[in-house]
Amino acid sequence: MHDIEKTVGSVRNLNLWSGLLLALCAISLPGCSRNGEEGQCNAAPHMPARQVVIMGIDGLRDDAVSPTLTPFLFHLAESHGVAWRKIDVSNGRTQQTLSAPGWVSVLTATWASAHGIVDNSSAGPIKVPTVFERLHASKADSRSVLMTSWKPLYGWVQGRLRALPQIHHAAFLRQDDAAIEQEVLTTWRTCQPELAFIHLDAVNKAGHAGAFDPSDPGYAAAVRETDSRIGRLWEKALAPSSVQGAAPQRLVIFASDHGGVGNSHGRYSDAERWAPLLAISPPGSAPVNISSLVDIGQVSLDFVQ
Ligand SMILES: [Zn+2]
Repeated sequence: MHDIEKTVGSVRNLNLWSGLLLALCAISLPGCSRNGEEGQCNAAPHMPARQVVIMGIDGLRDDAVSPTLTPFLFHLAESHGVAWRKIDVSNGRTQQTLSAPGWVSVLTATWASAHGIVDNSSAGPIKVPTVFERLHASKADSRSVLMTSWKPLYGWVQGRLRALPQIHHAAFLRQDDAAIEQEVLTTWRTCQPELAFIHLDAVNKAGHAGAFDPSDPGYAAAVRETDSRIGRLWEKALAPSSVQGAAPQRLVIFASDHGGVGNSHGRYSDAERWAPLLAISPPGSAPVNISSLVDIGQVSLDFVQ
């Protein structure tokens, strides 16, 4: 629940957008009609040489990363010899610690003062190019993917991407994290994008339902479940192919958009504004340097270009 009371305007815009998509589905765009879910990807003609996966774990508080709650991610960092970072998603207490400005900052490599999505009720449009557009502008044959269950984020980003040929960008709106996992496991090897953003929302939902606190049983369970989900995605979809030379050099970035206090977030307390970040570079590559939310998109573009 992303501050639902603030999203009425966005939902209204999304109704228009959803209507357009339903109209497109009605004229036989395949893959459109499962329970109102949207999106499909076209098979990539070849495996990209380099690939970036940004995995967004919505509402993961910094102190929720631990051997107990996130054993897969904890040991992934350890086995790659990289440390978790803490980044200030509020840009020095100037940007609200809300999902919309946070994720759009990741996907545009700019703060909300530039991209214009200042809170979860922003009508849009996003005022600056997204990383998907920038990738396409610099690599005409590239492919990108967005997967989310949060309609406003889907709507804002797709609002910018209407002109991008569908073959170059696939956006998936799915019901929940389980459906997103299923989509990745089903289609990843076919899609093979240069750049993917996979948004997981169960931790955030649990925070709003109980508390953004590792001692809250519901929140802790959602963190554990998400860690397991990421483990399955890593092993079944992202693990290197057994065919020698067929796997892309892959950078995987795990990021969160905010923590929380009690059952909410948006303000500037340490528990809200510091979020965990982990970047796993491919073997033999230098570690990437990400020190803020807006570095994620730029580092991703630099890696694949
Ligand atoms: Zn969020």
